[in-house]
Amino acid sequence: VADNSKALAAKIRMHALAMTNAGNSSHVGSVLGMSDILGVLYSGALRVEPENPRESNRDRFILSKGHAGAGVYAALYEAGFELGSNLLDHCADGSSLSGHVSHKNNAGVELSTGSLGHGLSVAAGIALGLRMRGSDARSLCLMSDGECDEGSVWEAALFSAHHRLGNLTVIVDYNKLQSIDSIENTLGLEPFALKWEAFGWDVVEVDGHDHDQLHQTLGGARLSERAPLIVIAHTVKGKGVSFMENSVLWHYRSPQGEEFELAKKEIAAQL
Ligand SMILES: [Mg+2]
Repeated sequence: VADNSKALAAKIRMHALAMTNAGNSSHVGSVLGMSDILGVLYSGALRVEPENPRESNRDRFILSKGHAGAGVYAALYEAGFELGSNLLDHCADGSSLSGHVSHKNNAGVELSTGSLGHGLSVAAGIALGLRMRGSDARSLCLMSDGECDEGSVWEAALFSAHHRLGNLTVIVDYNKLQSIDSIENTLGLEPFALKWEAFGWDVVEVDGHDHDQLHQTLGGARLSERAPLIVIAHTVKGKGVSFMENSVLWHYRSPQGEEFELAKKEIAAQL
């Protein structure tokens, strides 16, 4: 299983480079850092059907860090979902593939996001709704670390624990960077795991690039049926391209020219 998800993650990385190059667009570092998580989600961990994207018993996945939408579009494309535009039209005028992820015309995208701190509230509401309908489907949400600066995240955290949303799984892409500086310099989160625990969540910490650990925590096995689960995934922003790793530059910089060619070469070696 890990072989499939690793192959998918490498493809997502390659698409993300090509898309941000073609669109002269941002956030390639954000996508590279979470590609292993997406690779695991879309190679079996998520119960979704590309040929029946609105199936009522599907797992719902919300990318709350919507600026990294290129990664979700690439994952959906590889999984066989129908998108409204070609991947290389990312960020082009009139394209369905806007830089911040959009559900319009794109099968498999549950919610348009981009304003940070909204995804968890929606995912919690979906989890409650699924339970009220007697569905065994899960609600999953991928957030950034910087996003946890938003007060709405902690309101949703209270709500989810209060309602014992055992069908809710949140993944935090904990790369220790936000936009153009470190988390620590901007607004510290530590002790991060203890905060979630105190809010009543089950907490698991994983290496966000270790596919075995990701399959184990995202594959559906639960610590308890009566508490929401948060998976704190320790990641490296820009993972997979040596000169992009842990560099704030690649939050906004678009890969062009020689940098694009070098990055492609490094990812191609992982395909
Ligand atoms: Mg971050």
